[in-house]
Amino acid sequence: LHQRKIQEQFRGMIQNASDIIMVVDESGLINYATPSLERKLGHSVSDLLGTPLAALLHPDESAIANALISGMSGGSSQAPSLVDWRVRHADGRYLFFEVLTSTLPDDSGAVGLVLTMRDVSQRRALEQQLMHQAFHDTLTGLPNRALFRDRVEQALTRAARTGIAIAVAIVDLDDFKVVNDTRGHAAGDAMLSEVAQRLQMMLRASTTVARLGGDEFAILIEDLDDGSLSQDLIDRIMSPFRAPFVVEREELVVSASIGVVFSGGSELVLNFTELLRCADLALYAAKEQGKGRVEVYHDDLHTRMVNRLNHRSELSNAMKTGQFELHYQPIVLIDTGEILGSEVLVRWHHPTRGLVMPAEFISLAEETGQIIELGRWVLDRACRQWREWADLGYVSHRLSVNVSARQLQEAGFADEVSAVLLRHAMPPTALVLELTESVFALDTSIILEQLTVIADTGVYIAVDDFGTGYSSLSYLRRFHVHELKVDKSFVDGLGTDNPDEGALTSAIVSMAQSLRLEVVAEGIERIAQRDELWSMGCGLGQGYLYSRPVPAEELLVLLSRAQPLGPPSALSGGGNIARLRVPAPIARLPGLG
Ligand code: C2E
Ligand code: CA
Ligand code: CA
Repeated sequence: LHQRKIQEQFRGMIQNASDIIMVVDESGLINYATPSLERKLGHSVSDLLGTPLAALLHPDESAIANALISGMSGGSSQAPSLVDWRVRHADGRYLFFEVLTSTLPDDSGAVGLVLTMRDVSQRRALEQQLMHQAFHDTLTGLPNRALFRDRVEQALTRAARTGIAIAVAIVDLDDFKVVNDTRGHAAGDAMLSEVAQRLQMMLRASTTVARLGGDEFAILIEDLDDGSLSQDLIDRIMSPFRAPFVVEREELVVSASIGVVFSGGSELVLNFTELLRCADLALYAAKEQGKGRVEVYHDDLHTRMVNRLNHRSELSNAMKTGQFELHYQPIVLIDTGEILGSEVLVRWHHPTRGLVMPAEFISLAEETGQIIELGRWVLDRACRQWREWADLGYVSHRLSVNVSARQLQEAGFADEVSAVLLRHAMPPTALVLELTESVFALDTSIILEQLTVIADTGVYIAVDDFGTGYSSLSYLRRFHVHELKVDKSFVDGLGTDNPDEGALTSAIVSMAQSLRLEVVAEGIERIAQRDELWSMGCGLGQGYLYSRPVPAEELLVLLSRAQPLGPPSALSGGGNIARLRVPAPIARLPGLG
């Protein structure tokens, strides 16, 4: 009786599964398929039985399938593998499936290939959108920093071959903030689009104009005749700002400051980062002298750069003398405003410069490798803090710690995480490690191994700044990711009258839901943004609307206050959000660690 009950349960599971499971025999013919095949692909199961699997696949993929099948008849059982295949729908379209292939266990007496197939077409469509988004600025349609970098790097390679210098200019609008503050964001945006258009029109086709962010544009100039900036070119770069801008039927005059650097100009060997840094220094110098000026990078400015490099020794000194402190920014349940946990953000109390923000030293620490020591300290200090709060009763508070790629490339990082948890008697499920997409894109075996070990202990893995760096989304499953942190740039456009702004964010949230990932929206500043996120089904949020990052004592005050964070909401409690105090377990595929 018991046996029968189990069989019935099992049959029920198979009937209702949304994944398709197929079994293919030694000669490549379909032997079995779950009813979900009919729902997903429109073919009737009985028609397909006994027909070749290859006929169902895209021609490019059927060869791979046939190789798998002939490998199987060799008798050796193969390790399961995960592949992306295009599968033909009854209406002729191809849909993308993620397919796990494994051979039937030997003791079953039969030889066969089991395919577990999951429809990922929606994810694929999102990938393509993100790809465009990752290389273009949405407001102006210009290339963004990532694409600009790519173009500059190609130009540098060409320049090394031909010996003809290239120049990079950074154009920064003067007093743009005033326009934004007095005329509103819509007017500011209109003006930026107009600047973008004018810059493109004024420059020759062989130049690249990009928007780096905010009111900062960059120009790559390749066909320099004599390795210097001619007056003619300066005039052309400046000309978009000669005529006033018409914003809301009013004429506004806006000037720009420009910093320029030449690739061959100094004894420095310049790569993209260095070039941009030099152009930035020149821009800074231009601004110092007043508005609407152009400054070309020269070696005196170099001294300032050397000063920056001194930060290296300053940084190591700061670590020795304990100048770092951690701040904590609450992460809340969007529907109720309850605090679920907090993100740990490092601050530097500099003896003369005051409070220095991570933007000014994290990338330097990454370049020099000092991030490893700093990151180790952050993790330990944060977990010690967790223990203090836990002793006061806040045991369910979850800490999110930022981790750099450099840290994960160190063998032993996974052990370090376990050791820290042990040291402070902290359960792994109270810790989230935030990694940027670029970490997953690196895809080295050392990172994969360490992340697998870490995830297996129960520590959660979050993708930080999600949507800003393009990489194929298949890593989300391969790396046992639990949480996506949707970048602030996606949140910025929400809660406006333009419904288009939210389309991509909404697509991200629903993809995350289908993969059973938690979603945290970052940088929520306005109630309207929160409400739109809530209606999309985004469960968690973080941003100034709730609280800025605060020192540990202040976070304790927030925790001990009974009332939820943020302005009261008209949102109904419960709502359409699965309230995940503890993240739902991520479905793991058998055999993948
Ligand atoms: P992140 O991980 O994306 O952190 C979020 C940043 O957004 C924080 O800046 C936070 O203060 C800011 N933020 C939060 N809510 C809002 C909002 O509503 N509006 C605005 N405008 N900003 C908001 P912060 O603290 O300056 O950190 C900057 C970056 O530095 C972090 O970005 C992270 O990448 C890095 N970082 C900070 N601490 C660490 C650390 O311990 N280790 C590593 N590797 N990186 C760190
Ligand atoms: Ca983060
Ligand atoms: Ca982030």
